Amino acid sequence: MLKLSGVSKYYRTAETVAMGLRKVDLEFHLGEFVAVTGESGSGKSTLLNVISGLDTYEDGEMYVNGEETSYFRTEEWENYRKQYIGFVFQNYNIIDSYSVLENVMIALTIQGYDEDKKKARALELIDRVGLSSHVHHKASKLSGGQKQRAVIARALAKDCPIIVADEPTGNLDSESSENIIKLLKEISIDKLVIVVTHNYDEVSAHATRRIRLFDGEVAEDKQIKPYQEVKEEPHIAEYNMTFKSLLGISLRNLFRTPKRTIFTLIVAMFVAIIFTFSYGSFVSETTAAGEYYGGGYFQNVTDSRIILTKYDSTEFSDAEINQLMSIPLVRDVLPHDIVLDSYIYHYTQESEFYDWLYARDIYMSSAFDINRDDLIDGELPSSKYEVVIPETELYSIGDEIDLGTSPINYSGNNPSVPNDAMKFTVSGFSRPSSSWRQRYYFHHDFLVDEDVVNRAYSQQINMDFDVEYDGQSFTIGIWRDSLQVDDTLPDGVIQFSEGAYEEFIGFRIGEDVPLDEITITMNTRTSFGNYSYELDEIDPDFYEDLEYHVSYRMNQATLQEVFQYGRNQIAVIVYDEYDADQVISDLQDEDMYYVIYPNGVTDMFSEIAGIFQTIYLTFILGFLLLVIYFVGYVVLKNIQVSKKKDYLIFRSIGASKKDLNKVTIIELIVTMLLSYSLTMILLVVNEQITSSIPKYLRYFNFGSYLFLAVLMVVLAVLLGNRFNKRIFGKSVITSLKAE
Ligand code: ADP
Ligand code: MG
Repeated sequence: MLKLSGVSKYYRTAETVAMGLRKVDLEFHLGEFVAVTGESGSGKSTLLNVISGLDTYEDGEMYVNGEETSYFRTEEWENYRKQYIGFVFQNYNIIDSYSVLENVMIALTIQGYDEDKKKARALELIDRVGLSSHVHHKASKLSGGQKQRAVIARALAKDCPIIVADEPTGNLDSESSENIIKLLKEISIDKLVIVVTHNYDEVSAHATRRIRLFDGEVAEDKQIKPYQEVKEEPHIAEYNMTFKSLLGISLRNLFRTPKRTIFTLIVAMFVAIIFTFSYGSFVSETTAAGEYYGGGYFQNVTDSRIILTKYDSTEFSDAEINQLMSIPLVRDVLPHDIVLDSYIYHYTQESEFYDWLYARDIYMSSAFDINRDDLIDGELPSSKYEVVIPETELYSIGDEIDLGTSPINYSGNNPSVPNDAMKFTVSGFSRPSSSWRQRYYFHHDFLVDEDVVNRAYSQQINMDFDVEYDGQSFTIGIWRDSLQVDDTLPDGVIQFSEGAYEEFIGFRIGEDVPLDEITITMNTRTSFGNYSYELDEIDPDFYEDLEYHVSYRMNQATLQEVFQYGRNQIAVIVYDEYDADQVISDLQDEDMYYVIYPNGVTDMFSEIAGIFQTIYLTFILGFLLLVIYFVGYVVLKNIQVSKKKDYLIFRSIGASKKDLNKVTIIELIVTMLLSYSLTMILLVVNEQITSSIPKYLRYFNFGSYLFLAVLMVVLAVLLGNRFNKRIFGKSVITSLKAE
């Protein structure tokens, strides 16, 4: 079964060479019960360590079951230990955090023993060593004798042909010693049992052979009584540990060392927070890259505004608008998107001394455009004439302000707030916009008001008139704010003010040319197309009160026709960019609409800038990972190294380095992912309660969460490998001796 021929073992230190074994020739067979005696330092432990593959030898050969072992590498020795050896150490090598049952079962798990039979087998051996009443006790709570018995149960439970015991009774009282020896004898029937003892008397009744060592040499090798020869080949277990058992060991380790685990969890949560915030600012910065551009067509670009038109260019029906409104993340639908690109004027007295009126142009946005984080104070507007304005020291909540849709007629001598100005009550303050032109946030009812909508269409910048007369043609522009709606006019009639005629038409053609000799085509361009409208009747009745002002007027029906005025282009308002992504993909799925998201439209410059930004931030993130890796290593080092002893025990009972590496890494991955989930839950809860810091989470999609999880896993693997290098630095026996 086992044959040593000329085996030597030296221990080299800086100054001396100690002889562990000198040219030992021995042969062992199944069924033998061998007692090894000798003085302290005679090489007994060395012999057992060499036999059990825990230590290496220098000279000679060792054959196992006819197989030469000199070429064995780490993995083969691991396999040998796993399949052949049950080892009982002198200083009970037991895993303190495990129960007796778990200590015994772990050996079977490592061996890959049949799941269903594992427990019964373990309980049977525990019973035989007399520990039935302590099955579920933690090993750290046992007495020395009880620990030794648990270790013996562990060695004996294993499905292996060789049991070696190094002074198993060294720390036991005489009664326990006797029981242990009896037990060893019983199992030696079909196994090879080698027991080292300093007290030969206690084994003399059972031993079939006695070997006495002296100074590393075999001084005596005597058959005491015949042994029952075992004919059949030894049964060698050929299993491997499954992922499930590895995971089981990892989880048990985590649960059994709660302090260690909680500390690691807390450290990992810090890591998760750092990653989340860095990546969060990364995401929000890269998403902000295209902001305020909007592809050039749209000016009031916010992350809430989604623009829709239909493939067939027809108007949206009430039913369709209601259907859009019922999409869960949609907060508001405006039937005329164009309103959001028009201005409203805020009339203010600029100076107390000069009585000078100033009309500041402001974007009109939907109140639903405001994020909770951006409403600094007060409430969203609850009625048509309430408004949220950017925070300013000039007003308080509840103040009245003058807003209107027409600019001031500066040509008059005494500018004053226009007649059509409206009184609004400030209901809340928003965070001021970083761009020059501010946004005021209005109630839905105001944004769908007919006057507001009319004005919005007329304010379209891209509008001009082509004039043809007597073979010549030219284009004139008209001040976009100069529209008047006058329903007393007949359909199709557009009237110019005298100022308009003089400045733009009369000036080029001559004031006395009859208007019916002139062809004027009015062109409007919107983001979705260009429209031309030929004016076939022009009534040159000028406004008396607007003598010097360039202006034109028409009735509502004409206006609607000229500006393609209809619910063709609507706005869907969502909470923010995150919701926009979802709503847009829902809308695109319907395959009915052109969807434009101005906030997502970027130009080439910002795309290139975005690429650089991404490279830069990836670099930062990589650097961060590196820093966290080193800091994490230093912080967690002691905790991880404290596992060393347990891992050595695992290895001495046959666990492979590879499997234990996996256990370390699985433990860390589980911890990291758990911390990550906890962190996310905390951040979400925090966001619900305080609505403060992690606005970032709103920008996260599934990919972001996955990316962060992967980052945590990468960190776990890096750290795990590093710790393993430390834990498994030296050979099993050197490390065990050092413990
Ligand atoms: P025993 O178990 O019979 O008391 P050992 O096998 O432990 O004896 O030791 C045999 C010899 O080898 C002794 O001289 C001891 O000092 C030496 N030895 C054992 N282990 C080491 C080691 N790790 N380094 C150096 N010398 C050692
Ligand atoms: Mg010894």
